Amino acid sequence: MQLVDIGANLTHESFRHDFDDVLTRARNSGVTRMVVTGASREGSEAALALARAHPGVLWATAGVHPHHAVDYDEATDARLRELVRLPAVRAVGETGLDYHRNYSPREAQLEAFERQLAIAAELGKPLFLHQRDAHADFLALLRRYRDRVPAAVVHCFTDTREALHDYLALDCHIGITGWICDERRGTHLREFVREIPAHRLLIETDAPYLLPRTVRPQPSHRRNEPMYLRHICEEIARDRGEPAEITAAASTAAAEAFFGLA
Ligand SMILES: [Zn+2]
Repeated sequence: MQLVDIGANLTHESFRHDFDDVLTRARNSGVTRMVVTGASREGSEAALALARAHPGVLWATAGVHPHHAVDYDEATDARLRELVRLPAVRAVGETGLDYHRNYSPREAQLEAFERQLAIAAELGKPLFLHQRDAHADFLALLRRYRDRVPAAVVHCFTDTREALHDYLALDCHIGITGWICDERRGTHLREFVREIPAHRLLIETDAPYLLPRTVRPQPSHRRNEPMYLRHICEEIARDRGEPAEITAAASTAAAEAFFGLA
Protein backbone atom coordinates (compact mmCIF):
# COMPACT_ATOMS: atom_id res chain seq x y z
CA MET A 1 0.00 0.00 0.00
CA GLN A 2 1.43 3.36 -1.09
CA LEU A 3 -0.14 6.47 0.38
CA VAL A 4 0.22 10.22 0.01
CA ASP A 5 -0.43 12.34 3.12
CA ILE A 6 -1.83 15.51 1.54
CA GLY A 7 -1.84 17.52 4.79
CA ALA A 8 0.92 17.22 7.38
CA ASN A 9 2.08 20.12 9.55
CA LEU A 10 5.64 18.84 9.61
CA THR A 11 7.08 22.26 10.44
CA HIS A 12 5.46 21.95 13.88
CA GLU A 13 7.99 22.16 16.71
CA SER A 14 6.97 18.74 18.04
CA PHE A 15 8.72 17.16 15.02
CA ARG A 16 12.00 18.99 15.44
CA HIS A 17 13.76 16.46 17.65
CA ASP A 18 13.09 13.34 15.55
CA PHE A 19 12.18 14.55 12.07
CA ASP A 20 14.21 11.96 10.16
CA ASP A 21 12.68 9.17 12.24
CA VAL A 22 9.21 10.48 11.42
CA LEU A 23 9.99 10.26 7.69
CA THR A 24 11.49 6.77 8.10
CA ARG A 25 8.44 5.51 10.00
CA ALA A 26 6.18 7.03 7.37
CA ARG A 27 8.05 5.29 4.56
CA ASN A 28 8.00 1.98 6.44
CA SER A 29 4.21 2.37 6.74
CA GLY A 30 3.77 2.98 3.02
CA VAL A 31 3.45 6.75 3.27
CA THR A 32 6.08 7.56 0.68
CA ARG A 33 5.08 11.13 -0.12
CA MET A 34 3.71 14.02 1.94
CA VAL A 35 2.56 17.57 1.31
CA VAL A 36 3.70 19.88 4.09
CA THR A 37 1.09 22.48 5.01
CA GLY A 38 2.12 26.13 5.03
CA ALA A 39 -0.22 28.02 7.36
CA SER A 40 1.56 31.35 7.86
CA ARG A 41 4.20 33.35 6.05
CA GLU A 42 6.98 31.92 8.23
CA GLY A 43 5.40 28.47 8.19
CA SER A 44 5.25 28.51 4.40
CA GLU A 45 8.96 29.37 4.21
CA ALA A 46 9.69 26.49 6.59
CA ALA A 47 7.51 24.11 4.57
CA LEU A 48 9.40 25.09 1.43
CA ALA A 49 12.73 24.44 3.15
CA LEU A 50 11.59 20.94 4.15
CA ALA A 51 10.35 20.18 0.64
CA ARG A 52 13.64 21.32 -0.87
CA ALA A 53 15.60 19.17 1.57
CA HIS A 54 13.55 16.07 0.65
CA PRO A 55 12.84 16.20 -3.08
CA GLY A 56 10.50 13.51 -4.33
CA VAL A 57 9.25 12.87 -0.79
CA LEU A 58 7.99 16.22 0.48
CA TRP A 59 6.20 19.08 -1.25
CA ALA A 60 4.81 22.25 0.27
CA THR A 61 1.80 24.52 0.20
CA ALA A 62 2.10 28.26 0.80
CA GLY A 63 -0.62 30.25 2.48
CA VAL A 64 -2.03 31.95 5.55
CA HIS A 65 -4.52 30.08 7.74
CA PRO A 66 -7.63 32.02 8.83
CA HIS A 67 -6.31 31.98 12.40
CA HIS A 68 -3.41 34.16 11.17
CA ALA A 69 -5.46 36.29 8.76
CA VAL A 70 -4.84 39.40 10.82
CA ASP A 71 -1.14 39.12 9.88
CA TYR A 72 -1.90 39.13 6.15
CA ASP A 73 -0.30 42.30 4.76
CA GLU A 74 1.16 43.51 1.47
CA ALA A 75 4.56 41.93 2.14
CA THR A 76 2.88 38.60 2.87
CA ASP A 77 0.86 38.81 -0.32
CA ALA A 78 3.97 39.60 -2.38
CA ARG A 79 5.97 36.78 -0.80
CA LEU A 80 3.17 34.23 -1.28
CA ARG A 81 3.10 35.11 -4.96
CA GLU A 82 6.81 34.28 -5.18
CA LEU A 83 6.52 31.07 -3.17
CA VAL A 84 3.60 29.75 -5.19
CA ARG A 85 5.63 30.00 -8.40
CA LEU A 86 8.34 27.65 -7.07
CA PRO A 87 8.27 24.04 -8.25
CA ALA A 88 8.32 22.62 -4.70
CA VAL A 89 5.14 24.52 -3.82
CA ARG A 90 2.06 22.74 -5.15
CA ALA A 91 -0.92 24.68 -3.82
CA VAL A 92 -2.10 27.99 -2.38
CA GLY A 93 -3.15 27.52 1.25
CA GLU A 94 -3.89 26.67 3.89
CA THR A 95 -6.49 29.38 3.47
CA GLY A 96 -10.18 29.73 4.17
CA LEU A 97 -12.50 30.72 7.00
CA ASP A 98 -12.75 29.55 10.62
CA TYR A 99 -15.65 31.00 12.60
CA HIS A 100 -15.30 28.29 15.24
CA ARG A 101 -12.49 30.03 17.04
CA ASN A 102 -12.38 33.45 15.37
CA TYR A 103 -8.72 33.93 16.34
CA SER A 104 -8.70 36.60 13.63
CA PRO A 105 -11.72 38.88 13.12
CA ARG A 106 -14.09 37.76 10.38
CA GLU A 107 -13.41 40.79 8.22
CA ALA A 108 -9.67 39.99 8.25
CA GLN A 109 -10.41 36.34 7.45
CA LEU A 110 -12.61 37.24 4.51
CA GLU A 111 -10.02 39.61 3.10
CA ALA A 112 -7.07 37.22 3.48
CA PHE A 113 -9.11 34.39 1.97
CA GLU A 114 -10.14 36.43 -1.04
CA ARG A 115 -6.61 37.65 -1.67
CA GLN A 116 -5.35 34.07 -1.68
CA LEU A 117 -8.18 33.01 -3.98
CA ALA A 118 -7.00 35.74 -6.32
CA ILE A 119 -3.41 34.44 -6.19
CA ALA A 120 -4.56 30.92 -7.09
CA ALA A 121 -6.66 32.30 -9.94
CA GLU A 122 -3.92 34.54 -11.32
CA LEU A 123 -1.19 31.91 -11.10
CA GLY A 124 -3.36 28.93 -12.02
CA LYS A 125 -2.59 26.94 -8.87
CA PRO A 126 -4.74 24.51 -6.85
CA LEU A 127 -6.20 25.57 -3.50
CA PHE A 128 -5.74 23.88 -0.12
CA LEU A 129 -8.76 25.05 1.87
CA HIS A 130 -9.91 25.15 5.49
CA GLN A 131 -13.52 25.75 6.54
CA ARG A 132 -14.97 25.49 10.02
CA ASP A 133 -18.37 26.85 11.04
CA ALA A 134 -18.26 29.20 8.07
CA HIS A 135 -19.81 27.18 5.26
CA ALA A 136 -22.12 29.85 3.78
CA ASP A 137 -19.53 32.65 3.55
CA PHE A 138 -16.84 30.21 2.44
CA LEU A 139 -18.99 28.73 -0.31
CA ALA A 140 -20.07 32.14 -1.59
CA LEU A 141 -16.48 33.37 -1.94
CA LEU A 142 -15.14 30.13 -3.36
CA ARG A 143 -17.92 30.02 -5.93
CA ARG A 144 -16.83 33.39 -7.32
CA TYR A 145 -13.30 32.11 -8.03
CA ARG A 146 -13.85 28.41 -8.67
CA ASP A 147 -13.94 28.66 -12.48
CA ARG A 148 -10.54 30.34 -12.50
CA VAL A 149 -8.59 27.86 -10.34
CA PRO A 150 -7.59 24.43 -11.64
CA ALA A 151 -8.52 22.45 -8.50
CA ALA A 152 -9.48 22.92 -4.85
CA VAL A 153 -9.44 20.59 -1.85
CA VAL A 154 -11.55 21.25 1.22
CA HIS A 155 -9.11 19.76 3.70
CA CYS A 156 -10.09 18.11 6.99
CA PHE A 157 -13.72 17.99 5.98
CA THR A 158 -15.90 17.59 9.10
CA ASP A 159 -19.11 19.30 8.00
CA THR A 160 -22.56 17.98 7.01
CA ARG A 161 -23.67 15.88 4.05
CA GLU A 162 -25.30 18.98 2.60
CA ALA A 163 -22.01 20.92 2.77
CA LEU A 164 -20.22 17.96 1.21
CA HIS A 165 -22.53 18.03 -1.78
CA ASP A 166 -22.16 21.80 -2.10
CA TYR A 167 -18.40 21.27 -2.47
CA LEU A 168 -18.74 18.32 -4.83
CA ALA A 169 -21.07 20.40 -6.99
CA LEU A 170 -18.27 22.96 -7.22
CA ASP A 171 -15.95 20.20 -8.42
CA CYS A 172 -13.87 20.27 -5.22
CA HIS A 173 -11.79 17.48 -3.79
CA ILE A 174 -12.46 16.43 -0.19
CA GLY A 175 -9.71 15.78 2.37
CA ILE A 176 -10.56 13.29 5.11
CA THR A 177 -8.51 13.12 8.33
CA GLY A 178 -8.56 10.95 11.44
CA TRP A 179 -11.67 12.86 12.49
CA ILE A 180 -13.53 9.97 10.84
CA CYS A 181 -11.81 7.55 13.23
CA ASP A 182 -13.36 9.36 16.23
CA GLU A 183 -16.42 7.45 17.39
CA ARG A 184 -17.53 10.47 19.46
CA ARG A 185 -17.65 13.14 16.76
CA GLY A 186 -16.80 11.55 13.41
CA THR A 187 -19.63 9.07 12.96
CA HIS A 188 -21.66 11.35 10.68
CA LEU A 189 -18.76 11.25 8.21
CA ARG A 190 -18.88 7.45 8.18
CA GLU A 191 -22.43 7.58 6.87
CA PHE A 192 -21.69 9.59 3.73
CA VAL A 193 -17.96 9.24 2.96
CA ARG A 194 -18.99 6.70 0.32
CA GLU A 195 -20.73 9.50 -1.58
CA ILE A 196 -17.37 11.10 -2.42
CA PRO A 197 -16.28 9.97 -5.91
CA ALA A 198 -13.03 8.01 -5.60
CA HIS A 199 -11.09 10.43 -7.81
CA ARG A 200 -12.02 13.36 -5.52
CA LEU A 201 -11.18 11.68 -2.20
CA LEU A 202 -7.86 12.65 -0.60
CA ILE A 203 -6.56 11.45 2.75
CA GLU A 204 -4.44 13.29 5.28
CA THR A 205 -3.26 13.09 8.88
CA ASP A 206 -3.17 16.84 9.70
CA ALA A 207 -0.28 15.73 11.95
CA PRO A 208 0.60 16.50 14.73
CA TYR A 209 -3.12 17.05 15.34
CA LEU A 210 -6.02 14.59 15.21
CA LEU A 211 -4.33 11.33 16.20
CA PRO A 212 -6.74 8.64 14.91
CA ARG A 213 -8.59 7.07 17.82
CA THR A 214 -8.42 3.73 16.03
CA VAL A 215 -4.64 3.57 16.63
CA ARG A 216 -4.18 0.87 19.29
CA PRO A 217 -2.59 1.26 21.70
CA GLN A 218 -2.79 5.05 21.70
CA PRO A 219 0.75 6.46 22.03
CA SER A 220 1.21 8.28 25.33
CA HIS A 221 2.56 11.43 23.64
CA ARG A 222 -0.66 11.86 21.59
CA ARG A 223 1.30 13.25 18.66
CA ASN A 224 -0.08 12.27 15.28
CA GLU A 225 2.37 11.57 12.46
CA PRO A 226 2.15 10.47 8.82
CA MET A 227 2.77 6.78 9.60
CA TYR A 228 -0.77 6.62 11.01
CA LEU A 229 -2.36 7.53 7.68
CA ARG A 230 -3.10 3.84 7.07
CA HIS A 231 -5.59 3.86 9.96
CA ILE A 232 -7.55 6.64 8.26
CA CYS A 233 -7.48 4.82 4.94
CA GLU A 234 -8.73 1.64 6.61
CA GLU A 235 -11.61 3.40 8.37
CA ILE A 236 -12.68 5.07 5.10
CA ALA A 237 -12.49 1.72 3.30
CA ARG A 238 -14.72 0.09 5.94
CA ASP A 239 -17.27 2.88 5.60
CA ARG A 240 -17.22 2.72 1.80
CA GLY A 241 -17.51 -1.06 1.86
CA GLU A 242 -14.39 -1.67 -0.23
CA PRO A 243 -10.95 -3.22 0.33
CA ALA A 244 -8.40 -0.78 1.82
CA GLU A 245 -6.14 -1.44 -1.19
CA ILE A 246 -8.79 0.08 -3.44
CA THR A 247 -9.17 3.18 -1.27
CA ALA A 248 -5.40 3.53 -1.05
CA ALA A 249 -4.78 3.19 -4.77
CA ALA A 250 -7.56 5.61 -5.72
CA SER A 251 -6.60 8.27 -3.18
CA THR A 252 -2.94 8.03 -4.16
CA ALA A 253 -3.82 8.48 -7.83
CA ALA A 254 -6.09 11.40 -6.91
CA ALA A 255 -3.31 13.05 -4.86
CA GLU A 256 -0.79 12.58 -7.68
CA ALA A 257 -3.15 14.22 -10.15
CA PHE A 258 -4.18 17.03 -7.79
CA PHE A 259 -0.66 18.07 -6.78
CA GLY A 260 1.10 16.97 -9.97
CA LEU A 261 3.32 14.49 -8.13
CA ALA A 262 3.60 11.76 -10.74
ZN1 LIG B 1 -7.17 23.20 8.63
